[in-house]
Amino acid sequence: MELVGGIRLVKTLPCLADPGKIIVIGETDATLDGVLPLLNAILPNVVSYHSFSGVMTLRRRPGLITLYPDKVMITQVADVEEGLALLAAMRDLLNRTWTRRDEIQPRHEGRLVPRPLDVYELLPRTNCRACGEATCMAFAFGLLESRHRPEQCPSLADPAYAAQRQALADMLEQAGDIPGERNLNAL
Ligand code: SF4
Repeated sequence: MELVGGIRLVKTLPCLADPGKIIVIGETDATLDGVLPLLNAILPNVVSYHSFSGVMTLRRRPGLITLYPDKVMITQVADVEEGLALLAAMRDLLNRTWTRRDEIQPRHEGRLVPRPLDVYELLPRTNCRACGEATCMAFAFGLLESRHRPEQCPSLADPAYAAQRQALADMLEQAGDIPGERNLNAL
């Protein structure tokens, strides 16, 4: 039996991480509490999982998917049409996983790796565009997705940013421990 009958698109917002793109927010018609520990056990692209609040973030290329008990939020979406397709793919992934619940050993331990905001706070935050991105937040997403390296931000080479540079290196090393990455469509 299916867990989720549908994920209804309820809102779109401008995506600060990628100007011109949108964030889509969908509501599920069933609670996701039971399926998140299963996803946590099998998906290679879990960025963070907080079991106490039932919130999981998945990395996709590009952007992130955050699952709440009754909601799905996807960043860096091209348009509503792509958003609807991604929400449908998410519903299918949830249902496929739920169907296999008897054979998957749920993983309840949380995972916590840097969020884009954590990375952003270590950047100069001047939006000077020297790295090729329109904003420092977009660069932060690029660092977490391994599209960028810290050296591409010339301002970080300034000795005044030595501490931030070191913290950034530590943070990205931690993020690099996540095995493999796959697009949602490939799941
Ligand atoms: S070069 Fe550095 S300071 Fe300038 S926008 Fe990129 S990340 Fe921000």
